Amino acid sequence: MKPLLIGGDWLRTSHGAGNVNPSDTADVIDTHAEAGIAETQTAIAAARDAAPAWGRSTPQERHDILRRAGDELLARREKLGRLLSREEGKILPEGIAEATRAAQILHFFAGEALRQTGELIPSVRPGITVEITREPVGVVGIITPWNFPLAIPAWKIAPALAFGNAVVFKPAELVPGSAWALADILHRAGTPPGVLNLLTGPGRVVGQAMLDDPRIDAITFTGSQATGARVAAARPGGRVQLEMGGKNPLVVLDDADLDRAVHCALDGGFFSTGQRCTASSRLIVTEGIHDRFVSRLADRLAALKVGHALEEGVEMGPVVSQDQLDQDLAHIERARREGGHLRTGGEVLRRQTRGYFLAPTLITGTEPAMTINREEVFGPVASVIRVRDYDAALAAANDTPFGLCAGICTTSLKHASDFKRKAEAGMVMVNLPTAGVDYHVPFGGRKASSHGPKEQGTHAREFFTETKIAYTAP
Ligand code: ADP
Repeated sequence: MKPLLIGGDWLRTSHGAGNVNPSDTADVIDTHAEAGIAETQTAIAAARDAAPAWGRSTPQERHDILRRAGDELLARREKLGRLLSREEGKILPEGIAEATRAAQILHFFAGEALRQTGELIPSVRPGITVEITREPVGVVGIITPWNFPLAIPAWKIAPALAFGNAVVFKPAELVPGSAWALADILHRAGTPPGVLNLLTGPGRVVGQAMLDDPRIDAITFTGSQATGARVAAARPGGRVQLEMGGKNPLVVLDDADLDRAVHCALDGGFFSTGQRCTASSRLIVTEGIHDRFVSRLADRLAALKVGHALEEGVEMGPVVSQDQLDQDLAHIERARREGGHLRTGGEVLRRQTRGYFLAPTLITGTEPAMTINREEVFGPVASVIRVRDYDAALAAANDTPFGLCAGICTTSLKHASDFKRKAEAGMVMVNLPTAGVDYHVPFGGRKASSHGPKEQGTHAREFFTETKIAYTAP
């Protein structure tokens, strides 16, 4: 059994839970300890005790730990990428790429630990100076989803540590293996006891106990809207950062490069099995290119090789679980009932191993008001909305409660510039898939997608530090 990490010690529990390979449900990968309320409270106390000394540690110490951990992740990226793909179901090249990305994030924040600055400003009053500095927040609770089992924990844990906070980390139930590997690496890289605590276990127990505990100063969460709403409700007015998915539009205009537009839809909508909060799930296409675009994309989707995530040549792995598969199928069925046309996909695929394989699915003839265009599916499913012109496309793109990412494929500078300005989303992509971002710049959305300061890049410090303004008279 893989243990919990609390106060610098590895602790076994009486209960454990297995993680299962979604490409092959006969493959039980490991057993992980399941924390309960008592372990959660002990971990929070350990973080509380460790926070003051860690807050006073030097930038060099924090840098060195993050640097060492990043180096190890990079050196072991093939093996860790394989574990990730086995556990989550994205194909091996994507698993390895994610492990590499997690290492890059650790390295970036190793640098950020050294780059911390303040400001010294002359007062408007004679002789007085004003210093503006950043201080750690204290104890940060980190709750993460299953779709990026290494990258999302890395982009929350690394800035938390770089800026001097102690961490209580609760990963998603489906992917404890990747989380455990990351915690183990950071632990061995020299994180002092109590500074990083790992609690594998059920969200409704461990996560909820974290939300309810006032000894945690801040919560950063990525996951569903329903759980995000719980986090917000548990901490009214508190320091909370929420990323809760999207219903991201990809607009394709008549003047788009067809090959590029099809590639953007394929990558944005279906790579990583469409299980990305930035997935291009609404394809908004103008009349002149609609039929050519749909036909080319449908052909590419029908030819996509779907199978075991670790098998050579497979282009799309399984969805993550039976629950997720059931939800995806229910969304497809509802879209058909509401008038959508199933252009390709929609069926469960049989392979040599028992896994959750769903054919990449394209639904055409949909309207913005249909459920398929309002609720996140989180699977290899995209819907097409046919529109008259750019203005109608922009209106449809913004007709959603979400606002994470919006994309446009066009060769018109005028429309690209207008879209960058008017798209109601935190991130905008021109001639690029909506999914696939850099790690050294901010990440995050608007409207129902996100709450609180952006993640990643130098902007990460907004959430992970408190600003202090000190006045000194001679
Ligand atoms: P997903 O659909 O991506 O699994 P969830 O919102 O259910 O989204 O899960 C995201 C994270 O939130 C997971 O780590 C999960 O364990 C955790 N979680 C689930 N329920 C709660 C809760 N009541 N309080 C805190 N965390 C929770």
